[in-house]
Amino acid sequence: MEGPILILGIQGAGKSTLGRLVAESTGATHLSAGTLLRRRESAGGPWAREIASRLSRGEGVGTEISYGLLAESIGEPPRRSPLVLDGYPRIASQISLLRDTLGCDPELAFLLNVPRPIAIHRILGREVCGSCDAAYGPGLPPRITGVCDSCKGALSPRKDDLPSAVSTRLDGWSNYSRGIIDHYKAEGTLREIDGSRPADEVLVSVLAEIGNSATTAKH
Ligand SMILES: [Zn+2]
Repeated sequence: MEGPILILGIQGAGKSTLGRLVAESTGATHLSAGTLLRRRESAGGPWAREIASRLSRGEGVGTEISYGLLAESIGEPPRRSPLVLDGYPRIASQISLLRDTLGCDPELAFLLNVPRPIAIHRILGREVCGSCDAAYGPGLPPRITGVCDSCKGALSPRKDDLPSAVSTRLDGWSNYSRGIIDHYKAEGTLREIDGSRPADEVLVSVLAEIGNSATTAKH
C-alpha cells in the first residue's frame, strides 16, 4: 500500500476498529477523526472546550478544527509513511481540502455498508480505552471485559455516544455522504464492503482489496 486509505461509513459502521486492524496488519499509521477530537478534548489546548460542547450535542466540530488536528498529526511536510484515515472527509466540500492536507489523492476509499439498526446497536455497545484510545464494540469485544487488549487500560463508553447525540450523527452522514461516495466512485477508488460482518471478516476483504490495488499498480 502506497497512498492513504480512507474508511468511510455511517457512525457505528466499524470505521475506527477497522482502521486499527488495517494499520496493525500493514504497518500503516491510523488517524481517526473521532480519536483526534477526543484526545484534544481530554488533553486540553486549542479548541478543547469547543470540541467538548459540540460532541456532547452530536454536532460536527467543523472543518477548521478537524483538519487542523489532522494537519498537526501528519506534520509538515506531509509524512511519506502510509496512512489509514477514518472520519475524513465528513462532507463533500472537504474532498479537496483532504487532498491538500495529505499532499495526494487516496489510493482507496472503503465504504463500510451497515444497516442503521445494526449501527445503533454497535454505537450503544461500544467502549474506548482511556489510555490508548483503542475502540471496542459488539463486533470486536476485548478479551477481558472492561480491559484494553493492547495496554490494559480501563474501557468506558464514548462521551459522544449518548443516545440523544446518536441519531443526530446518523442523520448527518445520511444527508452528506452521497457527494463523497459519488466522487470516489467516479475516481475509481471506491470499494464497497459489507460492514455488518464480524470485524475479522471485514478485515480480510479489505486487505484483499489493498493487495489487488498494489498488484494492479505494478503492472
Ligand atoms: Zn489501551
